[in-house]
Amino acid sequence: MSARPDWLRVRADFPVLTRQVHGKPLVYLDSANTSQKPQAVIRAVDDFYREHNANVSRAVHALGSEATEAYEGARARLARFINVPADELVLTSGTTFGINLVAYSWALPRLSAGDTILLTRMEHHANIVPWQIVAERTGASIKVVDITPAGELDLDDLRAKLTGDVKLLAFTHVSNVLGTVNPVAVICREARKRGVVTVVDGSQALPHLAVDIPSLGCDFYAFTGHKMLGPTGTGGLWARRQHLREMPPFLGGGEMIREVRFEKTVYNDPPHKFEAGTPNIAGVIGLGAAVDYLETLGMDHIHAREQALLRIAEERLAEIPGLRIFGQAPGKAAVISFLVDGAHAHDLATLLDLEGIAVRSGHHCAHPLMAHFGVAATCRASLAFYNTHVEIERLAEAITKARTLLA
Ligand code: PMP
Repeated sequence: MSARPDWLRVRADFPVLTRQVHGKPLVYLDSANTSQKPQAVIRAVDDFYREHNANVSRAVHALGSEATEAYEGARARLARFINVPADELVLTSGTTFGINLVAYSWALPRLSAGDTILLTRMEHHANIVPWQIVAERTGASIKVVDITPAGELDLDDLRAKLTGDVKLLAFTHVSNVLGTVNPVAVICREARKRGVVTVVDGSQALPHLAVDIPSLGCDFYAFTGHKMLGPTGTGGLWARRQHLREMPPFLGGGEMIREVRFEKTVYNDPPHKFEAGTPNIAGVIGLGAAVDYLETLGMDHIHAREQALLRIAEERLAEIPGLRIFGQAPGKAAVISFLVDGAHAHDLATLLDLEGIAVRSGHHCAHPLMAHFGVAATCRASLAFYNTHVEIERLAEAITKARTLLA
C-alpha cells in the first residue's frame, strides 16, 4: 500500500473548500450529492479547452487526434480503475443514463407479461423509475426486496423473492441514504444460480471503495463521475461483452455507426455502438484526471479515512438528545441521515447553512425508503476524505444550537 496521505494537505487541493458561506468557513457535507473537485481535475478540463479542443474520432488533424487520444486514454484509465476491458465500458452522462440504457436496450425487448423485475426498498429513483417504464410497456411486474431495521438488505427475503418469474434484479451497491454497503458478490451469486440478470447502481460505491467489477459477478454496473471527483455529466456503464453485442443501440446518430445507407445502417462495435453524438469530451478527460487523483491517494486509504471520520461523527451526534440516525448497518459508508425531534429537516438544514454547513435535506430521491421509515424527509451529512474532525465538531455544535432554536 502507498504511504498514508497527509489529509490536511490533500484538502488544500480543493479550491472551493477555502470559501466562506454566510461569513463562516464552508463545511461541505454533501459529497454524496456531488463531490468537490480537486485542482487536478479543474486543470485537466481547463487544459483541454485551452490547448487541445477538437471533436473526437472525426478529424485527422493534430487537435482532433490529441482530443481522441486524451478521451480514449481517460476511458482506459477508468476501465483499469474498475478492472474491466476498455471496450466493455460505455461512457455515459452518469448513472441515470446508464440504467436507462439497460432498461431500454436490454430489458424492453426481452421482458413480457408474467416476468418480474426485482428491486430493493433502498433504491434511488434512478434505479426505480426506468424499471417502472419497462414494466408499463411490457406488462412485467415489479417486486421489492425488504430491508432490516438496521437498513441492511434482507437476504432471506431476497432468496424468497428470487422466484422463477424474476428476469432481472437491480440494486444499489451503496445506499445514498443509509450508507449500507450491500454484499454485491453474494447477491449476484444468488441471482446467477437462478439465471437472473443483475444491474448494480455503483454511484455511491466508486468514490469510497476499491471496486473490482469482475469479482462482483454482476451483468451491468452503472456509475456517475461527479460523485467521484469528476465533472458533472460524466459516468460509465460496464456490461458483459455478450450483452453489449446482443443489445440494440439506445440512441442513433453519429459515432455509433460504421456505415450508413438509406437501405441499411451497420453499427459500430461496442462500446461506440452506445455512444451516439458528440460526448462530454472535456468532462471525460476530467474524470480520467479524477481517477488518477483517487489512485494516487489510494482507495484503501480513502476508505480508512472516511470510516474514521464516520466513527467520530456518529459518536458525536449520538450525544445530541433527540437525534435519530437512519441506517446503522455494520461497515456502512460515511453517510449519516438524521432527524432531530421537533425539527423539520429543511428548517434544520437552513439553520445549518447559516452556519456555513452544507447538508442535504429532503427525500434524497428515495421516496419509497422515506415512506418505509414513515418520514417525509431527513437531513443527510455525507462525508468525504477531505472533511476534518473540526468540521464534524462544527456540525454537532450547529445542530445543538439549531435544536434549541427550533424546539
Ligand atoms: N443512484 C444513487 C444511489 C445516487 O446516489 C444517485 C445520485 N444521487 C444516482 C443514482 C443518480 O446519479 P446521476 O444523477 O449522477 O445520474
